[in-house]
Amino acid sequence: MTVKGKVILKKGKEVSIQRFHPWVFSGAIQKHEGPQTDGSWVEVVDFRDTTLGFGHYQNGSITVRILSFGREKPGENFWSTRFATALQMRRAAALPSHDTNAFRLVHAEGDGLPGLIIDYYNGVPVVQAHSAGMHLDRHDIASALQEVLQGYIQAIYYKSHGTLPGNMRDGSSEEYLLGMGIVPHIIHEYNKKFYIDWEEGQKTGFFLDQRENRKLLGSFCKDRKVLNTFCYTGGFSIYALNAGATLVHSVDASEKAIDLTRKNLELNGFNPNLHQCFANDTFDFLKDKKDVYDVIVLDPPAFAKHREARHQAVKGYQRLNAEAMQKVRRGGILFTFSCSQVVDRQLFYDTIVSSAIQAGRQIKVLHHLSQPADHPVSIFHPEGEYLKGLVLFVE
Ligand code: SAH
Repeated sequence: MTVKGKVILKKGKEVSIQRFHPWVFSGAIQKHEGPQTDGSWVEVVDFRDTTLGFGHYQNGSITVRILSFGREKPGENFWSTRFATALQMRRAAALPSHDTNAFRLVHAEGDGLPGLIIDYYNGVPVVQAHSAGMHLDRHDIASALQEVLQGYIQAIYYKSHGTLPGNMRDGSSEEYLLGMGIVPHIIHEYNKKFYIDWEEGQKTGFFLDQRENRKLLGSFCKDRKVLNTFCYTGGFSIYALNAGATLVHSVDASEKAIDLTRKNLELNGFNPNLHQCFANDTFDFLKDKKDVYDVIVLDPPAFAKHREARHQAVKGYQRLNAEAMQKVRRGGILFTFSCSQVVDRQLFYDTIVSSAIQAGRQIKVLHHLSQPADHPVSIFHPEGEYLKGLVLFVE
């Protein structure tokens, strides 16, 4: 690892790093020594020149993302050691398994690798960089993946155009780093089949983070009429049909997503009479649907990506949930989610209470939902928790 510069912290600013929080904010920095190049590795020291760790430099509010804490400089095996540890953690959580061959292998700070996401789709890791440093290190990342996943890897796709800082986006931000995959590619999740298109799809191609929640939905769907809004590739719809739903409607504003849902339904061989897809806005769709559905799923995209947008986001969740609570049948179930990191668990809960007051229905909380084990949260970086959900019984 070539370490190119040094970042010296102001007195007292070492405390959060000593507690393994990986972000060095610009306001914590006393001075820089050596070149300040976006994406390069730097050493971070306290005011006494004691080494605190090493990480990626990037001009901005988070100036250094620490990848290695302590005095020892990361060596040759840095990436392969980290990936092996990440894989070992997934294996401890029974991933992959006989019926599931897609999982998140690296979840950024949760795996000690801020700025890096790797989703593994049945032989093909899709690498997504959120920082300049991860972009510059992508070939080392690819080599280490080949080493750690030996025998379980056909291709590596790099998909970072939408997540890199502007000055790093170019022809190299979306390409195969190994081999050539053929899309769509089939994965299994609890024995359900899904087509994954990492080249054209949203994010890395699939929302692996809803795996356990989709499975739980199934247990509420036998002989029920189900509405899956913000369905993307139809994940929740497929679990509902598999569990014996008598009718499933899938809604997404994107035609492309609806097309993928249709293909996934076909792939799983469901009776087409039990299912209908709608390329529609969820709010519009819900308007005239009172008492049609026994189960409604609300899984919207992040309404707030920044703290400044939080208030608007809360209003959005409030309105959407109140609408769905009014529409679901008596004795029905609402699965409701928020993946906005800036709307924390308590705020989401309070928002849902406000929706319930507006809807004027008796509501009971049956489950509190979260992100699955392959999206771990470092205990020192609580910001890593982003997915919240509630299962509600609506009287
Ligand atoms: N539930 C999905 C993931 C949802 S991602 C799964 O399990 O895989 C959010 C989806 O919401 C995206 O597909 C996006 O196209 C869709 N979307 C965004 N705004 C929308 C709106 N107003 N109405 C309906 N769909 C919308």
